[in-house]
Amino acid sequence: MRLDKLLANMGYGSRKEVKQLLKQKAVTIDGVVVKDAAMKVNSETQHVAIFGERVHYIEFIYLMMNKPPGVISATEDDHDKTVIDLLDPFAQHFKPFPVGRLDKDTEGLLLITNDGQLAHNLLSPKKHVPKTYYAKIDGQVTAADVKAFAAGVTLDDGYETKPGQLVILKSDIESEIELTIQEGKFHQVKRMFEAVGKKVTYLKRLSMGTLRLDENLALGEYREVTIEELDLLI
Ligand code: URA
Repeated sequence: MRLDKLLANMGYGSRKEVKQLLKQKAVTIDGVVVKDAAMKVNSETQHVAIFGERVHYIEFIYLMMNKPPGVISATEDDHDKTVIDLLDPFAQHFKPFPVGRLDKDTEGLLLITNDGQLAHNLLSPKKHVPKTYYAKIDGQVTAADVKAFAAGVTLDDGYETKPGQLVILKSDIESEIELTIQEGKFHQVKRMFEAVGKKVTYLKRLSMGTLRLDENLALGEYREVTIEELDLLI
């Protein structure tokens, strides 16, 4: 890879800014000052440093966000803020995208990455990756709903869902539940409750596969997925 591209990709500024660093003799390769922006460099076998500090090239970025309500889980939108707008410029540099979609009003776990293969594996219907949601429901959720979800319900478009595991946390005029599903149809959780005559009033994703939302993340906050979490996920 070209030296200026590598440094720009790692967040050391635009290619123009990187040129300034090179002019300042701030960049060394294997201890030798380099001023040629076009120089080809292999960051695995060569020691690239800026002001003496090693530059580790990272190809992929993996972030866990606690998505706040009111933002769109897309890379760009004409009207609303997207989850990518909430990232710092360094993270944005990697051109990441959200893995799957949460509705605008849904909160909780969103994996954001530029690793297309991982995203594909997590989203592939063939992989049956479980997703668990916490929800508040207008109406009393009962054992009959648990049974109906376990058998699969029919959505408004006639689609028969795969079995979902419904756990009732509170059964009252407003109920609280956790629901685990292995598929990701449009508005699926909301539509599953509509199928049994109830309305979701609050929805938050808690987990996707082995990845669990870090409860220390406030709404809109994000952190890197740890190596351990990533190893389990892949
Ligand atoms: N199901 C929904 O209805 N909405 C979401 O955002 C996610 C799952």
